Amino acid sequence: MAQLIDGKAVAARVRAEVKAEVDRLKAERGLVPGLAVVRVGEDPASKTYVTGKKKAAEEVGFHSWEHHRDSTVSQEELLALVHRLNEDPTVHGILVQLPLPRHIDADVIISAVRPEKDADGFHPMNAGSLLLGRAATRACTPLGVMRLLEEIGCEPSGKNAVVVGRSNIVGKPMALMLLQRNATVTMCHSKSDLPSEVSRADILVVAVGVRELVKGAWIKPGAVVIDVGMNRKEEDNKLVGDVEFAAASERASFITPVPGGVGPMTIAMLIRNTLEAAIRSVVPSAH
Ligand code: NDP
Repeated sequence: MAQLIDGKAVAARVRAEVKAEVDRLKAERGLVPGLAVVRVGEDPASKTYVTGKKKAAEEVGFHSWEHHRDSTVSQEELLALVHRLNEDPTVHGILVQLPLPRHIDADVIISAVRPEKDADGFHPMNAGSLLLGRAATRACTPLGVMRLLEEIGCEPSGKNAVVVGRSNIVGKPMALMLLQRNATVTMCHSKSDLPSEVSRADILVVAVGVRELVKGAWIKPGAVVIDVGMNRKEEDNKLVGDVEFAAASERASFITPVPGGVGPMTIAMLIRNTLEAAIRSVVPSAH
């Protein structure tokens, strides 16, 4: 029976580490990290995520601001807001909550955020630096997964890591981070032979968004299973992952629950990225 990976507990530890650093920065340099969150429209999930991110930022002692704009906001107005935040020295991290309305080109908005202030690690410069193996702000969700692996003592080097899903925010950066740690990485997507690829995974990360897509019977005995998926069940509105949790638990050595696995880590890493951006604003060589 697999051991549960308690993402909530690890995230609480990360936030406590950040808070200790914030207290030190305040005492030694009079610096308070600041996170600005931009939200557009009334998407209920975005509202919940932003509330959670703001709360976490405040709990560790950051300044935090939410800039909410109506769904009719123009791309120019949003760009002007991002430029203003780029120039504001009290703002160290900027996050634009996705998705944005269809009339706005999210790539343009994300590229307008200064790479040094890109708390999400989505800016092309940061994504490119990850590809090249250079220091950069990393995407929060895969960064959180790497921390979970570290917490359970799972060393990726030499292992077969299979990543299901190839989005720019989870799957691709996840594969690159595992590759950087010397795993042998396979990336899967909607055209892959999932049962066969998944069955070879010592480390399996699933980020698709299809409820219980990955069957327990496909899991290699002893595998570490990380389920990034978050799907709402229509019957009871509860969250469920992309992996058949009960059946996979019978075979895996470690597994993340949904909720309480990867989810809390994403916010914790956003907080960590913002702290690091604040430190870099006073010690430019710190990375
Ligand atoms: P995207 O929709 O951007 O990407 C989904 C990926 O899954 C695509 O690459 C797609 O392949 C692949 N896919 C779709 N169907 C299949 C299939 N049948 N078999 C194999 N692969 C398939 O999703 P995201 O990466 O943004 O998010 C994935 C999930 O993770 C969602 O449930 C989301 O809610 C969750 N999430 C959770 C976070 C957290 O903090 N816990 C943070 C971010 C996301 P193709 O490219 O071929 O279309």
